[in-house]
Amino acid sequence: MDLISIREDFPILTQTINNKPLVYFDNGATTQKPQVVINTLKDYYEQYNSNVHRGVHTLSQKATDAEEAARHTIAKFIGAESDQEIIFTKGTTDSLNLIAHSLGMHVLNHGDEIILPEMEHHSNIVPWQLIAAQKGAKIKTWGITAEGTLDIESFKALISDKTKILSITWVSNALGVINPIKEIIEIAKKHNIKVVVDAAQSIQHLPINVSELGADFVVFSGHKIYGPTGIGVLWGNKDALDTLPPYQGGGSMIKEVFMDHSTYQESPFRFEAGTPHIAGIIGLGAAIQYLQDIGIDKIKTHESELVSYAESELEKIDGIEIYAPKAPKAGAISFNFKGIHPFDVGELLNMQGVAVRTGHHCCQPLMRHFQIPGTIRASFALYNTKDEIDMLIKALSTALKMLR
Ligand code: PMP
Repeated sequence: MDLISIREDFPILTQTINNKPLVYFDNGATTQKPQVVINTLKDYYEQYNSNVHRGVHTLSQKATDAEEAARHTIAKFIGAESDQEIIFTKGTTDSLNLIAHSLGMHVLNHGDEIILPEMEHHSNIVPWQLIAAQKGAKIKTWGITAEGTLDIESFKALISDKTKILSITWVSNALGVINPIKEIIEIAKKHNIKVVVDAAQSIQHLPINVSELGADFVVFSGHKIYGPTGIGVLWGNKDALDTLPPYQGGGSMIKEVFMDHSTYQESPFRFEAGTPHIAGIIGLGAAIQYLQDIGIDKIKTHESELVSYAESELEKIDGIEIYAPKAPKAGAISFNFKGIHPFDVGELLNMQGVAVRTGHHCCQPLMRHFQIPGTIRASFALYNTKDEIDMLIKALSTALKMLR
């Protein structure tokens, strides 16, 4: 990968923070945007801003064509069988709320069970709690091992004839750990369990083919894959989607409306009530095209080299605790230093131009498991370099000298 030219594609990366070159290692929270995505948003608003699927006029047709072209790009990128399997949402959180509601309304009965790993992001816990309360269903926690990984035998032990849904992250946002998702899905499928995969932290790092994965639904956010905020995706098999009730009602999702009842469109429009985030959709299409032009396999190799290098350099620091040290990881490493609060480290790194995330990473149950208030997380993207990791290590050493 030509990192020099890739970095030139991201205008934000050239700035300094506190008179130091910016080292952006908070990509797990959101990635930076390449110029082509920024230009795509600007072009839309400057040249063909208009509503979609409604007007016969030229601008509306142009916006509709661009939106549907983006849907096609995204469908191909994730290996969907048709564009109709791509539903646009506001992001992973919105996708998970949608699927928890619609799938939960469809399959859950009183006493049924939903399995959730202990490492899930709050947005893959709370929506299930809401629907479980409504349907009288129960959440069963798949606890993690002392090392911070998922143990397949514990999953098998949790399954009962009441288990209807498993919702699981492919890559942990807090630890960077890659879960053995294919093996897990295979086991779930033997028991007829519906599987929802939170791909928020895998979509930008690992190749995906939803048609081969075996999951029922996959969700992700645009902003973590170099696209705009406020846009996300829910993928589901078209037949499965068409059996589910709508999540929100409004314009565009209906066939006919009477004063006492309505009939609904098929997927994807059934789940896309109201005016969508048109610029966001087109921008996400541009982001995914950009990523595909580089190649997800190359990105995966580059990022896994960054993770291994960072891990081996971090391990040398006295008093460090790296979470899930032996597990395979994608894009992120989480750590702490004995006796030092992660926020203090984060602030001192920021003073040296290094942006990392500190805190519970929206994973309070996971933090409770480790009995810690939070961690320091360095998370990487395709434009990061080994030199930047050296800058992180140097900045950490300065911070630790001040704090110890
Ligand atoms: N799941 C995971 C694994 C995440 O990392 C995130 C974002 N940190 C989310 C869900 C929620 O994504 P969003 O805030 O984009 O809706």
